[in-house]
Amino acid sequence: MGPTRAYISHKNLIHNLQLIQNNVAPATVMGVVKADAYGHGSIEVAKTLIAHGVNYLGVAFPEEGIELRKAGIETHILVFGAHLPHFFPQFLDYNLDITLTDAGQLQPLRELCLKHKVQARVQIKIDTGMGRVGFIFEKDRDLIFQIIEEKAWQVVGIYSHLSSADEEDTHFTLEQIKKFQTIKEQINHRFPDLKPIYHLANSAAIMRFKESYFDMVRPGVMLYGNPPSPDFDLKWPLKEVMAFKSKITLIKKLAANQPVSYNRRYYTTQTTYIGLVPAGYADGYNRKFTNTGQVLIKGRRYPVIGTVCMDQFLVDLGPELKDVALGDEVVLFGQQGNEHIKIIEVARKLETIPYEITCWVSRRVPRIHLR
Ligand SMILES: *Cc1c(COP(=O)(O)O)cnc(C)c1O
Repeated sequence: MGPTRAYISHKNLIHNLQLIQNNVAPATVMGVVKADAYGHGSIEVAKTLIAHGVNYLGVAFPEEGIELRKAGIETHILVFGAHLPHFFPQFLDYNLDITLTDAGQLQPLRELCLKHKVQARVQIKIDTGMGRVGFIFEKDRDLIFQIIEEKAWQVVGIYSHLSSADEEDTHFTLEQIKKFQTIKEQINHRFPDLKPIYHLANSAAIMRFKESYFDMVRPGVMLYGNPPSPDFDLKWPLKEVMAFKSKITLIKKLAANQPVSYNRRYYTTQTTYIGLVPAGYADGYNRKFTNTGQVLIKGRRYPVIGTVCMDQFLVDLGPELKDVALGDEVVLFGQQGNEHIKIIEVARKLETIPYEITCWVSRRVPRIHLR
């Protein structure tokens, strides 16, 4: 195994989970583990979450749910999003909750359930303002009631998604919450014995809107210790779960005025030592860090110089080597000594959100699970 690795702190994962559980109770927690648990490793993350009381998992695609089932995970799994009917047999084979989002899904699923003699578990997705997946309640009310009455499947959940819960202006989110509450009341009035799980809140809503909790919350990014955006006013003491690290594999001395890396985007200004880090954009270390990135070595910040390559990049170690040596740990993000390159710092620099930073860490980088 090479020196470039992503370290996953299950201690911090449990810390974040318990923080959520303590704040949202009696609502329960669905662990959102789509996209390989935002790059952290979905099977390992799911196992830890389940061991600490999580009884529902959320993924984006059936194959993500199947991967968890094949690893022996038996907890309920909801697959978000809209899926073509020819994928439905997979949902039945692996007992995954199907999200119903469109009238065209109903007849194929009905026929499949009758043929397989199984009652599918379905959840109805309602679009309360996201403008993406889901039925529009006002327009599709009768259809939704028909879905609930259908015997070929069992409606176990009804949910919606918030589009703007991280924004300073709370108006739109409060409207979405109110809309979902009204829909819940109408369905409960008509079907008092149904008792589906109602759920709405993502991470931003969990941290900002108690009225969004309903029966279950769906945290993703905050489980992994990050706020939804670098500018989010984070009041919860979340702890980052992933640290991205490598080692110096080459040190050499360059004279002043020497070009460094592809296309000579950097020239040394003095005689200096440069260190090679064997990680590049193919590992998820963004090429935009060319001449702008920073790393930690021996608890101090060092600048990335020259173009970030596919498999390596260079740092300027300065005219004196001090205590830096071959094989020293290099932190791309994470903590070292008293210094911390936070994932939000990286996200801000790359003009993106923390989600993307951990998702970018590619398959080539082994995940080391620290328990
Ligand atoms: C990804 C996702 C979540 C989790 O969102 P975070 O912002 O990461 O908390 C919740 N619900 C749905 C439907 C999602 O797709």
